[in-house]
Amino acid sequence: MNDCIFCGILAGEIPADVVAESETVLAFRDRNPQAPLHVLVIPRTHATNVAELADLEPETVAELVRVAQRVTADAGYDSYRLVANTGEDAGQSVFHTHLHVLAGRTQAWPPG
Ligand code: 5GP
Ligand code: ZN
Repeated sequence: MNDCIFCGILAGEIPADVVAESETVLAFRDRNPQAPLHVLVIPRTHATNVAELADLEPETVAELVRVAQRVTADAGYDSYRLVANTGEDAGQSVFHTHLHVLAGRTQAWPPG
């Protein structure tokens, strides 16, 4: 059995507030939002992080970005931040590739 929480969302076993989807990716609201718009875009294929996905399915990496762009445009924002935490020290807590899409407020740099 796969105990990956995002695979559970993809399988419909765990509820999620889905905002967009395509053949290869799903986008849903983060359960702990850090901005007025905080969406996670994930591949339907399980890969631990975005680099692994790039090796496995490079076209799906591009699709993550396309759907992120569409979600922010549909929400009426033209500025947004994409984040792909990779590894525990970088803040990754779910080991199924995901792009954080953050928009709707001014964002500080450098990040914490
Ligand atoms: P990471 O820390 O791996 O970069 O990001 C994981 C994100 O997934 C966190 O922002 C967390 O709030 C979100 N998250 C974890 N579990 C769930 C869940 O079951 N549903 C939703 N919608 N978001 C989740
Ligand atoms: Zn998974």
